[in-house]
Amino acid sequence: MHTAALDAAAAPVTQLKGVGPRMAERLARLDLHTVQDVLFHLPLRYQDRTRVAPIATLRPGDQAVVQGEVRAAQVRFGRRRMLLVRIQDGSALLTLRFFHFSAAQQANLARGVTVRCYGEVRAGVAGLEMIHPEYRRVAPDQEAPVEERLTPIYPATEGLSQPALRALAGESLRFGGGPAHSLVEWLPPVVRAELALPSLAEAVALLHGPPPDVSVQALEEGRHPAQQRLAFEELLAQHLSLRALRDRVERLTAPAFGAPGEVTRAFLAGLPFALTGAQRRVIDELARDLARAVPMHRLVQGDVGSGKTVVAAAALARAVDAGWQGALMAPTELLAEQHARNLRAWFEPLGVPVAWLAGRARARERQAALAALAEGAAPLAVGTHALFQEEVAFARLGLVVIDEQHRFGVHQRLALREKGAREGLHPHQLIMTATPIPRTLAMTAYADLEVSVIDELPPGRTPVETVVVPDARREDVVARVREACAAGRQAYWVCTLIEESDALQAQAAEATAALLTEALPELRVGLVHGRLKSADKEAVMARFKQGALDLLVATTVIEVGVDVPNASLMIIENAERLGLAQLHQLRGRVGRGAAASACVLMYHGPLSALARERLSTLRETNDGFAIAQRDLELRGPGEVLGTRQTGMLQLRIARLERDQALLERVPAVAERLRTEYPAHVPPLVRRWVPGAVYAGV
Ligand code: ADP
Ligand code: MG
Repeated sequence: MHTAALDAAAAPVTQLKGVGPRMAERLARLDLHTVQDVLFHLPLRYQDRTRVAPIATLRPGDQAVVQGEVRAAQVRFGRRRMLLVRIQDGSALLTLRFFHFSAAQQANLARGVTVRCYGEVRAGVAGLEMIHPEYRRVAPDQEAPVEERLTPIYPATEGLSQPALRALAGESLRFGGGPAHSLVEWLPPVVRAELALPSLAEAVALLHGPPPDVSVQALEEGRHPAQQRLAFEELLAQHLSLRALRDRVERLTAPAFGAPGEVTRAFLAGLPFALTGAQRRVIDELARDLARAVPMHRLVQGDVGSGKTVVAAAALARAVDAGWQGALMAPTELLAEQHARNLRAWFEPLGVPVAWLAGRARARERQAALAALAEGAAPLAVGTHALFQEEVAFARLGLVVIDEQHRFGVHQRLALREKGAREGLHPHQLIMTATPIPRTLAMTAYADLEVSVIDELPPGRTPVETVVVPDARREDVVARVREACAAGRQAYWVCTLIEESDALQAQAAEATAALLTEALPELRVGLVHGRLKSADKEAVMARFKQGALDLLVATTVIEVGVDVPNASLMIIENAERLGLAQLHQLRGRVGRGAAASACVLMYHGPLSALARERLSTLRETNDGFAIAQRDLELRGPGEVLGTRQTGMLQLRIARLERDQALLERVPAVAERLRTEYPAHVPPLVRRWVPGAVYAGV
């Protein structure tokens, strides 16, 4: 049975009755290639056409089938020509309104005729009505049959009608002798019983044609056990695919870094502060990983300002001591530049050169860096993803650190590992993120990684006081900037625009900088935006960092990682336009020194309910984890993890925000499958994660 079933899963759609090459082409537009794809192409919503509703029971917003006799039909000539038909079913009257109609249609809807209609009920001027309902004539007394099942409405495309998709789903369910054959059950019965979930075949069959007693609302909210079954299996498969990835990494060989040497000792001894307990703990965790001849694969989570850079640098120092190269990659040029400055300040006095590679590096500088890396003359490299382009070769890459991981996806992570692989040795990988991921989500999204958490901020930080003010009070805000700077502190003024265009953002920031320069003549005002040349941007940032500028006007380019401890005031204009995570990141630019810091979220009213919720969340808490949890609820995990850009964890059916409860059960079930039913794992993963890097063990 299993062989036949596997064939069915892989069978091309053309094996279905009635599917020729043209139909197959249209199906391909919906990414439906196999019979199994069609089975998993689930309805978006459902219509209940299983009962004829008495007109008197209808309420606006209902979608219903009604049947009645035409009492009046007339064409009304007003601003728009329309056909008005009044039907009566013995309980009440209902108006059918048509703006587009043919003479034949008009004749068909003559007085005395009985029609059955399906449509959405609205409150019209003269009682309830349906606009352009579907309708057909029926014999007056005969009980014309209604649908036996809820009517599925599928995501469709041109040339593929709903009836065609319904017929196709039916064919797929019958294919190979029925759903049990097409949809092999990989969840053991004990597991299904524990979770109270139906079999996969039952679930899929139900969703393509639910019986009339199933609640349309439950289905549309994704709460029906049949949907939960599919969502669970999908989450499980995702988790298993990442676990398999981890197993694979465990079988690779990496250079084992020996005991800490001179570079590590001198680096730590030279730090101007004592490490926090959390930093020390995480550095130890990393050291243990790095001492093994298996590639480290670890995520370090730490809220903004928790001091991740030093932790990364400590790991890089170990690489250098062991005679290997280390690379630090950041998602933006600005951040990479800052890392380069930090690493150079820490390592160059110790005689360890740091190479710099980014998109905008000058040709000569770039050639020199490439040569130094290829020859091994540069033990350390910092850059953007330019670090991992084709022509970059490392002599002995032993450790890759990726900062602000949420901008990179699983596949990019793997590409990096491959990049560094040489003579059977794979580099260690350390990933750092300031986006705290709620635990349940981390277990699935990062099942291929070990996780360390820096859960302590360096001492002496005072929480940032956050206020929310309408932009009508701009003058007060300007006065606040004046006061802070007069007291010797510095401030950021962040301009936001919805437009993604760098040019428009730059313009807005320029205009704001001009206005502020005028309003605050005693202050030294700088400006950074994405259109500036890298060197100019760096120069402005450097002056701000040195205290040669009081106020820095910026676009959101300064979002990640920028570090100026003397800055104690952050103004964010049009804060209502940004997401929680981004606002939290921006706010994290202040509160890095001992001075009390503040963040002013200026908004342009009126606020949407969601925006209001976001702003008050920020006012109430500084805790990155609490904010991440709230963000997950408000926006959904796609946004939280940055999957939109990275293509990581693309889910067909499961919705992480909705299916949190399922998510909690996933790790234990996954473990059970791996130990007790290992043969079930590869086909399960293949069913849901066809593009998985992991193609079966
Ligand atoms: P993030 O985790 O956001 O990347 P950074 O690594 O940029 O944080 O560190 C933020 C600031 O805190 C930097 O100025 C850094 O030098 C400082 N810092 C890091 N660790 C400590 C510590 N243990 N004590 C005091 N300051 C620290
Ligand atoms: Mg950082």
